[in-house]
Amino acid sequence: MAFAGSTKPVEPFRPKKRLGQNFLVDRFISDKIISFSGFTHEDTILEIGPGKGALTLPLAGKVKHVVAVEKDGQLVDWLNNRLHQDGFNNVTLLHEDILKVDWQTLKKYFEGRIPVIGNLPYNISSPVLEKMCRHSQWMGQAILMFQKEVADRLTATPGGKTYGALTLLVQYHAEAFSVLKVLKGSFFPVPKVDSMVVSLDFERPYPQRGGHEAVFKKVVKGAFSHRRKTVLNSLKGAFRDQSRESLLSALAACGIDPGKRAEVLHMADFLRLSSLLAIDNGVGR
Ligand code: SAM
Repeated sequence: MAFAGSTKPVEPFRPKKRLGQNFLVDRFISDKIISFSGFTHEDTILEIGPGKGALTLPLAGKVKHVVAVEKDGQLVDWLNNRLHQDGFNNVTLLHEDILKVDWQTLKKYFEGRIPVIGNLPYNISSPVLEKMCRHSQWMGQAILMFQKEVADRLTATPGGKTYGALTLLVQYHAEAFSVLKVLKGSFFPVPKVDSMVVSLDFERPYPQRGGHEAVFKKVVKGAFSHRRKTVLNSLKGAFRDQSRESLLSALAACGIDPGKRAEVLHMADFLRLSSLLAIDNGVGR
Protein backbone atom coordinates (compact mmCIF):
# COMPACT_ATOMS: atom_id res chain seq x y z
CA MET A 1 0.00 0.00 0.00
CA ALA A 2 1.54 3.31 -1.08
CA PHE A 3 1.65 6.01 1.60
CA ALA A 4 1.73 9.57 0.50
CA GLY A 5 2.92 11.54 3.48
CA SER A 6 5.45 14.03 2.11
CA THR A 7 4.80 17.52 0.77
CA LYS A 8 6.20 18.23 -2.70
CA PRO A 9 6.01 21.25 -4.97
CA VAL A 10 2.95 20.86 -7.20
CA GLU A 11 2.30 21.63 -10.87
CA PRO A 12 -0.85 23.46 -12.07
CA PHE A 13 -3.72 21.03 -12.13
CA ARG A 14 -5.92 20.06 -15.09
CA PRO A 15 -8.96 17.88 -14.30
CA LYS A 16 -8.79 14.43 -15.91
CA LYS A 17 -12.01 13.28 -17.55
CA ARG A 18 -10.98 9.61 -17.52
CA LEU A 19 -10.84 9.76 -13.69
CA GLY A 20 -14.28 11.38 -13.44
CA GLN A 21 -12.77 14.55 -12.00
CA ASN A 22 -15.69 16.91 -11.48
CA PHE A 23 -14.81 18.68 -8.27
CA LEU A 24 -17.40 19.91 -5.83
CA VAL A 25 -16.86 23.67 -5.54
CA ASP A 26 -19.81 24.67 -3.34
CA ARG A 27 -18.72 24.76 0.30
CA PHE A 28 -22.33 25.01 1.46
CA ILE A 29 -23.04 21.61 -0.15
CA SER A 30 -19.87 20.05 1.32
CA ASP A 31 -20.91 21.22 4.79
CA LYS A 32 -24.45 19.91 4.31
CA ILE A 33 -23.17 16.46 3.28
CA ILE A 34 -20.79 16.26 6.24
CA SER A 35 -23.43 17.47 8.63
CA PHE A 36 -25.96 14.97 7.31
CA SER A 37 -23.49 12.08 7.73
CA GLY A 38 -23.61 12.48 11.51
CA PHE A 39 -19.94 11.36 11.69
CA THR A 40 -18.38 12.50 14.98
CA HIS A 41 -14.97 13.22 16.54
CA GLU A 42 -14.79 9.55 17.58
CA ASP A 43 -15.02 8.21 14.03
CA THR A 44 -12.43 7.09 11.48
CA ILE A 45 -13.86 7.49 7.98
CA LEU A 46 -12.86 6.04 4.62
CA GLU A 47 -13.07 8.59 1.82
CA ILE A 48 -13.09 7.42 -1.79
CA GLY A 49 -11.58 9.89 -4.26
CA PRO A 50 -10.76 12.93 -2.08
CA GLY A 51 -9.66 15.00 -5.09
CA LYS A 52 -8.87 18.55 -3.95
CA GLY A 53 -10.44 17.93 -0.56
CA ALA A 54 -13.93 19.42 -0.94
CA LEU A 55 -15.17 16.80 1.54
CA THR A 56 -11.84 15.84 3.13
CA LEU A 57 -11.06 19.26 4.62
CA PRO A 58 -14.39 19.88 6.40
CA LEU A 59 -14.48 16.20 7.40
CA ALA A 60 -10.97 16.35 8.90
CA GLY A 61 -12.17 19.22 11.08
CA LYS A 62 -14.97 17.07 12.43
CA VAL A 63 -13.81 13.46 12.81
CA LYS A 64 -10.90 11.65 14.46
CA HIS A 65 -9.20 10.33 11.33
CA VAL A 66 -9.81 10.26 7.58
CA VAL A 67 -8.29 7.49 5.46
CA ALA A 68 -8.58 8.71 1.87
CA VAL A 69 -7.90 6.62 -1.24
CA GLU A 70 -6.98 8.63 -4.34
CA LYS A 71 -5.81 7.20 -7.66
CA ASP A 72 -4.31 10.41 -9.08
CA GLY A 73 -0.76 10.93 -7.75
CA GLN A 74 -0.77 14.58 -8.78
CA LEU A 75 -3.87 15.18 -6.64
CA VAL A 76 -2.34 13.28 -3.74
CA ASP A 77 0.58 15.74 -3.74
CA TRP A 78 -1.78 18.70 -4.17
CA LEU A 79 -4.00 17.63 -1.28
CA ASN A 80 -1.07 16.77 0.97
CA ASN A 81 0.22 20.31 0.56
CA ARG A 82 -3.19 21.76 1.26
CA LEU A 83 -3.70 19.63 4.39
CA HIS A 84 -0.24 20.62 5.60
CA GLN A 85 -0.96 24.33 5.00
CA ASP A 86 -4.25 24.06 6.88
CA GLY A 87 -2.58 22.27 9.79
CA PHE A 88 -4.43 18.94 9.50
CA ASN A 89 -2.49 15.88 10.61
CA ASN A 90 -5.39 13.45 10.93
CA VAL A 91 -5.69 12.48 7.26
CA THR A 92 -3.92 9.43 5.81
CA LEU A 93 -3.79 9.77 2.04
CA LEU A 94 -3.29 6.50 0.21
CA HIS A 95 -2.21 6.68 -3.39
CA GLU A 96 -4.26 3.70 -4.56
CA ASP A 97 -7.02 2.61 -6.90
CA ILE A 98 -10.11 1.83 -4.81
CA LEU A 99 -10.96 -1.00 -7.20
CA LYS A 100 -7.59 -2.69 -6.67
CA VAL A 101 -6.82 -1.83 -3.05
CA ASP A 102 -6.50 -4.70 -0.61
CA TRP A 103 -9.57 -4.33 1.63
CA GLN A 104 -7.99 -6.56 4.31
CA THR A 105 -5.23 -3.96 4.69
CA LEU A 106 -7.68 -1.07 4.50
CA LYS A 107 -9.78 -2.67 7.22
CA LYS A 108 -6.85 -2.42 9.67
CA TYR A 109 -7.39 1.35 9.98
CA PHE A 110 -10.85 0.77 11.43
CA GLU A 111 -11.92 -0.70 14.74
CA GLY A 112 -15.37 -1.81 13.67
CA ARG A 113 -17.37 -1.38 10.51
CA ILE A 114 -16.01 1.06 7.94
CA PRO A 115 -17.97 4.30 7.53
CA VAL A 116 -17.55 5.68 4.01
CA ILE A 117 -17.92 9.00 2.27
CA GLY A 118 -17.24 9.93 -1.33
CA ASN A 119 -18.21 11.89 -4.36
CA LEU A 120 -17.70 8.93 -6.65
CA PRO A 121 -16.20 9.22 -10.11
CA TYR A 122 -19.20 8.45 -12.33
CA ASN A 123 -17.35 5.76 -14.32
CA ILE A 124 -16.64 3.49 -11.35
CA SER A 125 -19.79 3.81 -9.28
CA SER A 126 -21.10 0.33 -10.14
CA PRO A 127 -17.82 -1.57 -9.47
CA VAL A 128 -17.34 0.38 -6.20
CA LEU A 129 -20.85 -0.62 -5.11
CA GLU A 130 -20.10 -4.22 -6.07
CA LYS A 131 -16.94 -4.18 -3.89
CA MET A 132 -18.83 -2.70 -0.98
CA CYS A 133 -21.59 -5.28 -1.29
CA ARG A 134 -18.99 -8.06 -1.47
CA HIS A 135 -17.50 -6.78 1.81
CA SER A 136 -20.86 -5.78 3.27
CA GLN A 137 -20.12 -7.37 6.65
CA TRP A 138 -17.26 -4.83 7.07
CA MET A 139 -19.12 -1.78 5.86
CA GLY A 140 -20.94 0.77 8.01
CA GLN A 141 -22.90 3.78 6.83
CA ALA A 142 -21.87 5.06 3.40
CA ILE A 143 -22.67 8.59 2.27
CA LEU A 144 -22.03 8.60 -1.45
CA MET A 145 -22.68 11.01 -4.28
CA PHE A 146 -23.78 9.52 -7.61
CA GLN A 147 -25.11 10.77 -10.92
CA LYS A 148 -28.79 11.31 -10.20
CA GLU A 149 -29.84 8.58 -12.62
CA VAL A 150 -27.74 5.99 -10.70
CA ALA A 151 -29.04 7.28 -7.36
CA ASP A 152 -32.61 6.86 -8.63
CA ARG A 153 -31.86 3.21 -9.42
CA LEU A 154 -30.40 2.62 -5.95
CA THR A 155 -33.41 4.02 -4.14
CA ALA A 156 -36.14 2.78 -6.51
CA THR A 157 -39.25 0.87 -5.46
CA PRO A 158 -41.09 -1.85 -7.44
CA GLY A 159 -43.11 -0.78 -10.45
CA GLY A 160 -40.94 2.04 -11.70
CA LYS A 161 -38.61 2.36 -14.67
CA THR A 162 -35.54 2.82 -12.49
CA TYR A 163 -36.21 -0.35 -10.43
CA GLY A 164 -33.88 -3.11 -11.57
CA ALA A 165 -31.07 -5.53 -10.76
CA LEU A 166 -28.83 -2.83 -9.24
CA THR A 167 -31.67 -1.76 -6.92
CA LEU A 168 -32.15 -5.27 -5.57
CA LEU A 169 -28.48 -6.24 -5.35
CA VAL A 170 -27.69 -3.11 -3.32
CA GLN A 171 -30.87 -3.02 -1.20
CA TYR A 172 -30.23 -6.65 -0.23
CA HIS A 173 -27.09 -5.44 1.58
CA ALA A 174 -27.97 -1.93 2.70
CA GLU A 175 -30.89 0.33 3.43
CA ALA A 176 -30.77 3.03 0.76
CA PHE A 177 -32.30 6.50 0.67
CA SER A 178 -31.69 9.80 -1.07
CA VAL A 179 -30.27 12.60 1.02
CA LEU A 180 -29.60 15.65 -1.14
CA LYS A 181 -29.85 16.62 -4.78
CA VAL A 182 -26.80 18.52 -6.03
CA LEU A 183 -27.14 20.55 -9.22
CA LYS A 184 -24.45 20.23 -11.88
CA GLY A 185 -23.45 23.89 -11.41
CA SER A 186 -21.98 22.95 -8.00
CA PHE A 187 -19.05 21.18 -9.75
CA PHE A 188 -16.05 22.17 -11.81
CA PRO A 189 -15.77 21.19 -14.60
CA VAL A 190 -19.57 21.27 -14.88
CA PRO A 191 -20.82 17.72 -15.66
CA LYS A 192 -23.70 16.95 -18.05
CA VAL A 193 -26.10 15.82 -15.33
CA ASP A 194 -27.15 16.55 -11.75
CA SER A 195 -26.05 14.41 -8.83
CA MET A 196 -27.66 12.97 -5.73
CA VAL A 197 -26.19 12.05 -2.35
CA VAL A 198 -27.41 8.65 -1.15
CA SER A 199 -27.12 7.04 2.26
CA LEU A 200 -26.42 3.31 2.20
CA ASP A 201 -26.60 1.78 5.66
CA PHE A 202 -24.90 -1.63 5.60
CA GLU A 203 -25.82 -2.14 9.24
CA ARG A 204 -29.44 -2.31 8.09
CA PRO A 205 -29.53 -4.89 5.30
CA TYR A 206 -32.82 -6.28 4.01
CA PRO A 207 -34.12 -8.22 7.03
CA GLN A 208 -34.59 -11.52 5.21
CA ARG A 209 -31.91 -13.70 3.53
CA GLY A 210 -32.73 -15.90 0.57
CA GLY A 211 -30.88 -19.08 -0.21
CA HIS A 212 -27.45 -18.86 -1.71
CA GLU A 213 -26.33 -15.33 -2.63
CA ALA A 214 -24.92 -16.44 -5.98
CA VAL A 215 -28.34 -17.86 -6.90
CA PHE A 216 -30.08 -14.67 -5.73
CA LYS A 217 -27.78 -12.66 -8.04
CA LYS A 218 -28.43 -15.05 -10.92
CA VAL A 219 -32.21 -14.83 -10.42
CA VAL A 220 -32.21 -11.04 -10.19
CA LYS A 221 -29.87 -10.48 -13.14
CA GLY A 222 -31.72 -13.09 -15.20
CA ALA A 223 -35.15 -11.67 -14.39
CA PHE A 224 -34.12 -8.18 -15.51
CA SER A 225 -32.06 -9.29 -18.52
CA HIS A 226 -35.00 -8.49 -20.83
CA ARG A 227 -37.19 -5.91 -19.14
CA ARG A 228 -40.01 -6.27 -21.66
CA LYS A 229 -40.24 -10.07 -21.37
CA THR A 230 -42.24 -11.94 -18.76
CA VAL A 231 -40.38 -13.14 -15.70
CA LEU A 232 -40.77 -16.74 -16.91
CA ASN A 233 -39.19 -16.04 -20.30
CA SER A 234 -36.36 -13.99 -18.80
CA LEU A 235 -35.57 -16.71 -16.25
CA LYS A 236 -35.60 -19.37 -18.95
CA GLY A 237 -32.62 -17.57 -20.49
CA ALA A 238 -30.72 -17.49 -17.21
CA PHE A 239 -31.54 -21.04 -16.07
CA ARG A 240 -31.03 -22.94 -19.32
CA ASP A 241 -30.56 -26.29 -17.59
CA GLN A 242 -33.96 -25.94 -15.92
CA SER A 243 -37.10 -27.03 -17.73
CA ARG A 244 -39.98 -24.62 -18.38
CA GLU A 245 -42.17 -26.83 -16.12
CA SER A 246 -39.78 -26.69 -13.17
CA LEU A 247 -39.48 -22.90 -13.48
CA LEU A 248 -43.27 -22.65 -13.68
CA SER A 249 -43.68 -24.77 -10.56
CA ALA A 250 -41.05 -22.73 -8.67
CA LEU A 251 -42.88 -19.52 -9.62
CA ALA A 252 -46.22 -21.06 -8.60
CA ALA A 253 -44.78 -22.21 -5.26
CA CYS A 254 -43.71 -18.60 -4.62
CA GLY A 255 -47.11 -17.22 -5.63
CA ILE A 256 -45.59 -15.34 -8.59
CA ASP A 257 -47.62 -14.93 -11.78
CA PRO A 258 -45.24 -16.15 -14.55
CA GLY A 259 -46.75 -13.63 -16.98
CA LYS A 260 -45.65 -10.65 -14.90
CA ARG A 261 -42.56 -8.59 -15.57
CA ALA A 262 -39.66 -8.51 -13.14
CA GLU A 263 -40.14 -4.82 -12.39
CA VAL A 264 -43.33 -5.47 -10.40
CA LEU A 265 -41.78 -8.14 -8.16
CA HIS A 266 -40.59 -7.26 -4.66
CA MET A 267 -37.38 -8.23 -2.90
CA ALA A 268 -39.31 -10.89 -0.91
CA ASP A 269 -40.47 -12.52 -4.20
CA PHE A 270 -36.89 -12.75 -5.50
CA LEU A 271 -35.68 -14.15 -2.17
CA ARG A 272 -38.35 -16.87 -2.07
CA LEU A 273 -37.62 -17.77 -5.66
CA SER A 274 -33.86 -17.91 -5.18
CA SER A 275 -34.28 -20.14 -2.10
CA LEU A 276 -36.29 -22.60 -4.18
CA LEU A 277 -34.03 -22.47 -7.22
CA ALA A 278 -30.95 -22.89 -5.02
CA ILE A 279 -32.39 -26.16 -3.78
CA ASP A 280 -33.35 -27.23 -7.32
CA ASN A 281 -29.79 -26.49 -8.42
CA GLY A 282 -28.33 -28.46 -5.54
CA VAL A 283 -26.72 -25.36 -4.00
CA GLY A 284 -28.62 -25.69 -0.75
CA ARG A 285 -29.57 -23.00 1.73
N1 SAM B 1 -14.13 14.35 -3.51
C1 SAM B 1 -13.73 15.36 -4.49
C2 SAM B 1 -14.82 16.39 -4.64
O1 SAM B 1 -15.94 16.12 -4.17
O2 SAM B 1 -14.57 17.43 -5.23
C3 SAM B 1 -13.39 14.74 -5.84
C4 SAM B 1 -14.53 14.01 -6.50
S1 SAM B 1 -14.21 13.56 -8.19
C5 SAM B 1 -15.86 13.31 -8.74
C6 SAM B 1 -13.65 11.85 -8.08
C7 SAM B 1 -12.27 11.66 -7.47
O3 SAM B 1 -11.99 10.25 -7.45
C8 SAM B 1 -11.14 12.30 -8.23
O4 SAM B 1 -10.26 12.90 -7.34
C9 SAM B 1 -10.45 11.13 -8.95
O5 SAM B 1 -9.09 11.33 -9.21
C10 SAM B 1 -10.67 10.01 -7.95
N2 SAM B 1 -10.66 8.66 -8.53
C11 SAM B 1 -11.02 8.28 -9.79
N3 SAM B 1 -10.92 6.96 -9.95
C12 SAM B 1 -10.47 6.47 -8.75
C13 SAM B 1 -10.14 5.17 -8.29
N4 SAM B 1 -10.30 4.10 -9.07
N5 SAM B 1 -9.70 5.02 -7.02
C14 SAM B 1 -9.58 6.11 -6.20
N6 SAM B 1 -9.84 7.37 -6.60
C15 SAM B 1 -10.30 7.55 -7.85
